[in-house]
Amino acid sequence: MEKLSERINKLAVSETLAMSQKSRDLRSKGINVINLSVGEPDFHTPDFVKEAAKKAIDDNITFYSPVPGFPDLLEAVSKKLLRENGLTYAPEQIVVSNGAKHALANVLLALIDRDDEVIVPAPYWVSYVELVKLAEGKNVVIETSIESDFKITPKQLADAITPRTKALLLCSPSNPTGSVYTRNELAALAEVVAGHPNLYVISDEIYEHINFVGKHESIAQFEAIRDRVIIINGVSKGYAMTGWRIGYSATPLWLAKACSKLQGQVTSGASSIAQKASTAAINSDLSYPRMMCEAFIKRRDLVIERLRRIPGFKINVPQGAFYAFPEISALFGKKHGDGVINNAADLAMYLLNTAHVAMVPGGAFGAPNYIRLSYAASESQLIEALDRIEKAVAELK
Ligand code: PMP
Ligand code: GLU
Repeated sequence: MEKLSERINKLAVSETLAMSQKSRDLRSKGINVINLSVGEPDFHTPDFVKEAAKKAIDDNITFYSPVPGFPDLLEAVSKKLLRENGLTYAPEQIVVSNGAKHALANVLLALIDRDDEVIVPAPYWVSYVELVKLAEGKNVVIETSIESDFKITPKQLADAITPRTKALLLCSPSNPTGSVYTRNELAALAEVVAGHPNLYVISDEIYEHINFVGKHESIAQFEAIRDRVIIINGVSKGYAMTGWRIGYSATPLWLAKACSKLQGQVTSGASSIAQKASTAAINSDLSYPRMMCEAFIKRRDLVIERLRRIPGFKINVPQGAFYAFPEISALFGKKHGDGVINNAADLAMYLLNTAHVAMVPGGAFGAPNYIRLSYAASESQLIEALDRIEKAVAELK
């Protein structure tokens, strides 16, 4: 008899990846779907990175790498953290994994015991709560809304902490909201964390290079909590390398050792070729990420201006990443033919089937009144998509 584990039965399918698959399925039937669901840069990996990968193949860098990563990559990450972020993490404190998602999974599985509480501000990235569940931890969700620019306050954080709280999961710039915490806001949160010596902060900084308001600020900069901040980052977003699958954690040494032990049993070191490519990316200057960031800011302006004009869409101005996250509850109850829009999932399906534009319903991010649109697409595609969305929404009665 087919019987899966309780662990896997409790796990939800990744909605971002599922929506992307739905749009691929429709495309394979010849339908011209514009996919604004999955979040990945539409740029190509820079040529110098591809060259480094080709060289690695020609140099026969084709054997297992050390589990936490090649020493030159660990060194590159350590230097990057100092150069770009002013943070000191020794190479031994870095573990390179198969994407930031894997780095996060390692950290949560190594840190969280059954029923340990993890504070997750909503809207959150889809995989956070599922990975906490996989680690048998308990998600403690702090609600935010468009009115507070989707940011938690120090009071909300303090109120959510209990003797069982093990970690706070923070994402800035944020997926799915695009919000960016300021230095002062992070300082105020760090002050609360400082008062709880058993609390760790897992800081997902994967969108650090896609920031429209200036310098990236990490919560790891605050001395009082420095040795309790775990950084998750990688090359997927900043260097247009989603398919290469390289991410990393920077953690206290004892946790890095634990992540390495876990990874040694589950996946071994990440792809040797992709590691060499990532070393070239991380050692380079920031001209490629800056070029992408400039393109994203233009697209953000275009998308926000158009979404604002659509009745029923309420939108803030994202300050980083490449997502718009409008509130769409004003459309609930509206009808199309025999169908009714009762929630964001209905709206996403209506827009996919009628306008052939794929987006992700907010429920997946713990925000059921919202819908996420990734603007990591060309301007012409975005304009076409927004024309279609506007028309389809106007047809709702
Ligand atoms: N964190 C956030 C907030 C993300 O949006 C993503 C993108 N999927 C990841 C982590 C994981 O990135 P990676 O491709 O490196 O696994
Ligand atoms: N970060 C992207 C997103 O949220 C990639 C998809 C994923 O890894 O879930 O769409």
